[in-house]
Amino acid sequence: MHLYNLTIHEARSLLGAGEISAVELTQAVIDRILAVDNDVRAYITLTPEVALEQARAADAVRAGAGPLQGIPIAVKDIICTAGIPTTCGSRILENFIPPYDATVVARLKAAGAVILGKTNTDEFAMGSSTENSAFFPTRNPWDLERVPGGSSGGSAAAVAAGECLGALGTDTGGSVRQPAALCGIVGLKPTYGRVSRYGLIAFASSLDQVGVLTRDVTDAAILLGVIAGHDPLDSTSLDAPVPDYTAALTGDIRGMRVGVPREYFVSGMQPEVEAAVRAALQKLADLGAEIIEVSLPHTDYALPVYYLIAPAEASANLARYDSVRYGLRIVGTSLEETYKQTRGQGFGPEVKRRIMLGTYALSAGYYDAYYLKAQKVRTLIKGDFDRAFEQVDVIVAPTSPTTAFRIGEKTEDPIQMYLSDIFTLSVNLAGICGINVPCGFDAQGLPIGMQIMGPALGEMTILRVAYAYEQATDWHTHHPPIASRTSRAH
Ligand code: GLN
Repeated sequence: MHLYNLTIHEARSLLGAGEISAVELTQAVIDRILAVDNDVRAYITLTPEVALEQARAADAVRAGAGPLQGIPIAVKDIICTAGIPTTCGSRILENFIPPYDATVVARLKAAGAVILGKTNTDEFAMGSSTENSAFFPTRNPWDLERVPGGSSGGSAAAVAAGECLGALGTDTGGSVRQPAALCGIVGLKPTYGRVSRYGLIAFASSLDQVGVLTRDVTDAAILLGVIAGHDPLDSTSLDAPVPDYTAALTGDIRGMRVGVPREYFVSGMQPEVEAAVRAALQKLADLGAEIIEVSLPHTDYALPVYYLIAPAEASANLARYDSVRYGLRIVGTSLEETYKQTRGQGFGPEVKRRIMLGTYALSAGYYDAYYLKAQKVRTLIKGDFDRAFEQVDVIVAPTSPTTAFRIGEKTEDPIQMYLSDIFTLSVNLAGICGINVPCGFDAQGLPIGMQIMGPALGEMTILRVAYAYEQATDWHTHHPPIASRTSRAH
């Protein structure tokens, strides 16, 4: 067993027993990054010196002093890190160095974590493949010709390839769960407000949430426990106590009610994905859960509603990149020319598309027809879930309609790309929580993911079901073949 493939909980035991040091573990992960990241390209910025210094500091205190004492973690490059570049995958912030840490980063540090660097993302988290990064695409460690999903594709690929033990991502419409599915790992999007957004650079503020990407469910519970909780610096963060999420990991789901939404098993999905999720449902039934068909009747509207609300909020949030206070500045002949030059050259095509869509949807005369109506339908979508959760404890569906697609396959057709998130968008619109767990492989050996959705603050419930399923299967123990291929090449 390579140190870089350890789970967080395994590494904690070895560190606690004094069998390994944080410096040894961190060095093993850095060596792994150096060996494979030329191929995978998960990281935009690597901070090995900072990491080793934090590892030395972790070794200097009692093992286990913090819940992540000495554990190497990666952070999506849309989350502010003091003194370390935070680009959002965009030229406009290419040289931006935040003067402060996001609350989630401060919490990682307080927990003793070692921060390895910043992972690649679609520009401002707009995308499903990490191909919209202004710098380079990240590759899927299971097949380097394929995308890792997105927008937290760098974080997902890093976890899958052994380039960190766990990572933070963000999920506005699926960006933690979908890349987790495509990379064969666990990805949890918490309830809106469960985790502070302070220092998370805003895409769509009513949908954005920081989530965790890990190799197993136990690690997701540990990492979520570190970052969750009220933050006076984020007025939308919930003032609710943070439970011990690991207490949900009982393995017992007897009598639990699992809802299967009939609208989520539609034609057009890759047959192997449907078959794997159906087999997983059977496994949950074997474990004593009751499987109940439910209906989420407004599911068809999730995509159009999301693509009105998210771009509307993005167009407002991204107005701040005016070249005056921070970011790229290309001076033109007038103030207006300066704005045009800076924003014209600083933003990539997908970001411009969203700004135009959003500005249009919010403009006088169209506001009622588009933005306001979308908000009303959003309420109906939330109502669907409220009613379903009166009948069931969790709702299970595929995370993504397909396994990892080829690099370039969907870049010409934004609608095809948007469809990657067809099963994940509703969770953000409703403000509830969801987790991806690996549930199989397709004929090409690409991972398939199952999504378990829970009500607001239902993290304990989804973790309980996810853990019971994981313990009854061995999908999470598989590692991508990049290990052998790249070590041969080096
Ligand atoms: N793929 C969706 C989008 O492009 C969701 C992205 C996300 O969750 N950040 O907006």
